[in-house]
Amino acid sequence: MFDIPTDVADSIVFLNGSFLRMDEARVPVLDRGFIFGDGVYEVVPVYARRPFRLQEHLRRLQYSLDQIRLANPYADQEWSRLILELIARCPHADQGLYLQVTRGVAKRDHAFPKGAKPTVFMMTNALSTPSPEAVANGVAAITAADNRWLRCDIKSIALLGNVLMRQLAVEAGANETIMIRDGWLTEGSASNVFLVRNGVILAPPKSNLILPGTTYDVVLELAAKAGMPVEVRPVSEAELRDADELWLTSATREVLAVNSLDGKPVGGGAPGPVFRRMYALFRDFKKELAGGAPTHA
Ligand code: PMP
Repeated sequence: MFDIPTDVADSIVFLNGSFLRMDEARVPVLDRGFIFGDGVYEVVPVYARRPFRLQEHLRRLQYSLDQIRLANPYADQEWSRLILELIARCPHADQGLYLQVTRGVAKRDHAFPKGAKPTVFMMTNALSTPSPEAVANGVAAITAADNRWLRCDIKSIALLGNVLMRQLAVEAGANETIMIRDGWLTEGSASNVFLVRNGVILAPPKSNLILPGTTYDVVLELAAKAGMPVEVRPVSEAELRDADELWLTSATREVLAVNSLDGKPVGGGAPGPVFRRMYALFRDFKKELAGGAPTHA
């Protein structure tokens, strides 16, 4: 028996066509996900049992699969059906659903195996979002030189670079490590980064150096709809260090303000007015999708 954490041991997961208890799910040791990190993944937030931006997540999954030249095991309709079935089997209304596809089980050899069947795994658990205190006060972040590979646009399960970055934050008592490559802002270890300077929202453009975040897209759409000024362009380290506001975005962090960077206060050291406006827009957008009546702050 493997040591599956007891709080999730009896949760239902999906593995290669079957729904089963997490502590009964088994993957062969020769799976290329285990041996090479040869696979891709998605994390989909689920609000009131409705997957948030599912089409966008499935589109990004297809992009990642195309980039690693792995055939998508399911059509979108089939993904949707399986995802909704897994969501229904989880006791929580708000969930964080994780799915991954690897290149399957084969004798260890770097080259693509012939005829291997992809391994498909999904799990879903209670959604863990920032605490009300973190939303109200912001969180600390540190910076580090981005030493990851040059295909950060692929949502690869090979996350060692990101793991080491995140650990730096944990050891510094911070929430996230924000990375800088050659003097330019890239992203957080598991988040995208936005700035506000002189009332303008700034975000680095999508490229091979950052993950195209689904929350990043939501924030840009909400800003455009609300007529908030936005510039998507390369952001220098100097601008990052001199921002009035700094935000992290991800499926699970949602939109979260950074109150200090490398120990120095960001702006006034508390979430700023543009953040509060965006957070309210994001919260209302979520509520609309979850079927509740939107509120206006
Ligand atoms: N960048 C990285 C490196 C990430 O791991 C994530 C979260 N998966 C993001 C950005 C944000 O993406 P999303 O908004 O789709 O969660």
